[in-house]
Amino acid sequence: MGQLALSGVKKRFNKFEVIHGIDLDIRDGEFVVFVGPSGCGKSTLLRMICGLEEITEGECTIDGIRVNDLPPVKRGIAMVFQSYALYPHMSVFENIAFPLRVEKLPEAEIKERVMRAARVLQLENRLQQKPGNLSGGQRQRVAIGRAIVRQPSIFLFDEPLSNLDAALRAEMRIELTALHQKLKATMIYVTHDQVEAMTMADRIVVLDGGSISQVGAPLELYHKPDNLFVAGFIGNPR
Ligand code: ADP
Ligand code: MG
Repeated sequence: MGQLALSGVKKRFNKFEVIHGIDLDIRDGEFVVFVGPSGCGKSTLLRMICGLEEITEGECTIDGIRVNDLPPVKRGIAMVFQSYALYPHMSVFENIAFPLRVEKLPEAEIKERVMRAARVLQLENRLQQKPGNLSGGQRQRVAIGRAIVRQPSIFLFDEPLSNLDAALRAEMRIELTALHQKLKATMIYVTHDQVEAMTMADRIVVLDGGSISQVGAPLELYHKPDNLFVAGFIGNPR
């Protein structure tokens, strides 16, 4: 569970190609960070993986099964966005429970899953509050809770910390790494922040203009950048 492969994946908007043929294998439980400058195609790639955007050409498989034509809810993937998109009129509990209500799970199961997520994310004392009364970090944790309760084998994060201040970002980096160790799920994490990439990733995928520039462990890229782009972006400038 949680193994993902992209093969020759391309994206065109009208006639304009923005993703140029991505080949990538991600193993179960891996924490992979997609890093690259604004506009290089990180979000588009994530959106194709979770099914919010059609794959123009190529193939995406999850655990060996082609998912190109599967709707998002059937892919066993949960996505966390930069804008938390919480419902302001609902309590934290109801915000986290929302996807389970959509799936029409029994009430007892919903309660159990929400409580478990709240425990992992240290939100137990906030469940009856409204999102408006929470700090930015707590709101982001609610958004993550809403992903966790679905018990996906793959999590996608699109710049989830970019609205937080530097101190909170540092704290959330540690929390997300701990969460990964607890859940042992596959995580694909998009950022334009080199520090996040270097500190969180098992493997970094450097994207440049819709293509993969280099893939490797953080220290590998840092010490042995393949090209000037990677060197400039995360490498060790010599
Ligand atoms: P990133 O997330 O790395 O900043 P995006 O995936 O958002 O990059 O965008 C990659 C490229 O695709 C950009 O050139 C962007 O303008 C273009 N693009 C993204 N979404 C659309 C869309 N719905 N229609 C047309 N072009 C798009
Ligand atoms: Mg983006």
